[in-house]
Amino acid sequence: MHAQTRHQFTDTLALTRNLGILAHVDAGKTTTTERILYATGATYKRGEVHDGTTVTDFDPQERDRGITIFSAAVSCTWDGHRINLIDTPGHVDFSDEVERSLRVLDGAIAVFDGVAGVEPQSESVWRQADRYGVPRIAFVNKLDRAGADLDAAVASIRDRLGVTPLVVQLPIGRESGFTGVVDLLRMRSLTWVEGRDGYTDGPVPDELREEAERRRRALDEAVAELHPGALDEFCLRASVDEATLAAALRDLTRTGAGLVVLCGSAYHNRGIEPLLDAAVAYLPSPLDVPAVEGIRDGEPESRPADPAAPLAALVFKVNVTATGRLTFLRVYSGTIEKSGIVLDSGTGRTERIARILRVQADRHTEVARAVAGDIVAVVGPKAARTGATLCAPDAALVLEPPNATEPVVSVA
Ligand code: GDP
Repeated sequence: MHAQTRHQFTDTLALTRNLGILAHVDAGKTTTTERILYATGATYKRGEVHDGTTVTDFDPQERDRGITIFSAAVSCTWDGHRINLIDTPGHVDFSDEVERSLRVLDGAIAVFDGVAGVEPQSESVWRQADRYGVPRIAFVNKLDRAGADLDAAVASIRDRLGVTPLVVQLPIGRESGFTGVVDLLRMRSLTWVEGRDGYTDGPVPDELREEAERRRRALDEAVAELHPGALDEFCLRASVDEATLAAALRDLTRTGAGLVVLCGSAYHNRGIEPLLDAAVAYLPSPLDVPAVEGIRDGEPESRPADPAAPLAALVFKVNVTATGRLTFLRVYSGTIEKSGIVLDSGTGRTERIARILRVQADRHTEVARAVAGDIVAVVGPKAARTGATLCAPDAALVLEPPNATEPVVSVA
C-alpha cells in the first residue's frame, strides 16, 4: 500500500468511533439510538418506540416484545466522524449477546434512567463492560420525568458503580420545566426550542451563574485529583482553560479513571447533540486501542489496526434479511475487499465476499472495501457464524476459540 493511501486510511481511522449504547431495559437505549440517527441525518422520519417504527429494531419479534434483543450495527456521521453504532441487547437473558457486542466496541454511552438511577441490570451491564475494558461516558436520560434528579442519579453512579462521576452539565429547570443545560466546559447555556429541533447557544442565565461556577470548580478539582499531571497549571492559576480540561477528560475516559456524565431527555430530543460532541471528543478511535490478540498455529499473535496487515475480522452478528444473509463484522487488521476470498479459520472453509455494505438506519450503501477499525456487513459468506474469524487465507488467525467463555479479543 502506498504511503499516501496509508496516510489517508490512518486519518479515516482517527475519525472513526465504534460505539455501543449500554443500558438496562427501559432506560431509553432504543430512543437514544433513534434520536442519534435522527440528529446525524441518518433518518429523516423520527420513529417512536411505541408505534414500532424505531429504525434499529429490524426484527418483528423484537417489535412485538418491545425490547431490544438483537444487535445491529448502524453507521452515521457527526462532525466529520463516522460513528458505527453497535446495538447491544439490554435484556438480561441475552448477556452472551451483550458480551459479543462488547468485544467489537471501542467505547460506549451508558444510559441511565434519571428517576431510577443505577438499577441492578445497569450494574450487570456495567460489570460486563469493565471486563472488556470498554471506555464509557454516561447519559442520564428522562430528566423531563416527575421525580427525575441528576444529582441523585450521579450519587447512585458513584455509590453503586464505584467510579468517579465528572458531571459536565448543569440542568436548567427540573422535570417538565427542564429546558436546557449549562455546558460547564464552555460556560454557555444550551436551551431547547419548543416545537423545533436543535438548541440555542447563549450565556449562562444570571440566576445559575454562581452554581455553574461552583460546579465547574468542583469538576476542575475532581479532574486535578484524578489526573495530577494534566492540570498542573490549574493548581497555580486556579482556572483551567476548556481545551486543557477536555484533554484531561479524554484521558480519564480512556483509562476509566473517571466517568464524564451528561444529561437530557432522549424522548424530547434534548441533549443529543452535546452527547454526540462528547462521544467524538472523549471516546477512543480504533487507533487508540491496543492491537487485537489472536492465535496462529497455537501461538499468540497480535495484529495492528493497519490496513496493510493481513486481514483479521470478527463476525459478531449474522442476520438473515430480505437483502440476504448479512454477516456483520469488525475488521481488526488488514482490508476486506469486494470479490475477495477469505478463510473462516474456525471451519477451514473459504468464503467469497460478494458485497460489502455499510448499514444505515434506512438503507444500505455498497462499498468496495473496508479497512482495519471499520464495522460493516458483508454478503457472500454462507456458513460463517457469530464468533468466526474471517482472515487472509495465507495468514490464518483465530480471534475467538469456539464456545469461548473468556474473551480472547482485547478491545481496550
Ligand atoms: P430501552 O428498553 O432502554 O431501549 O428503552 P426505550 O427507548 O424503549 O424507552 C423505554 C420507555 O421510556 C419508552 O416508553 C420511551 O418512550 C420512554 N422514554 C425514553 N426516553 C425518555 C425520556 O427522555 N423521557 C421520558 N419521559 N420517557 C422516555
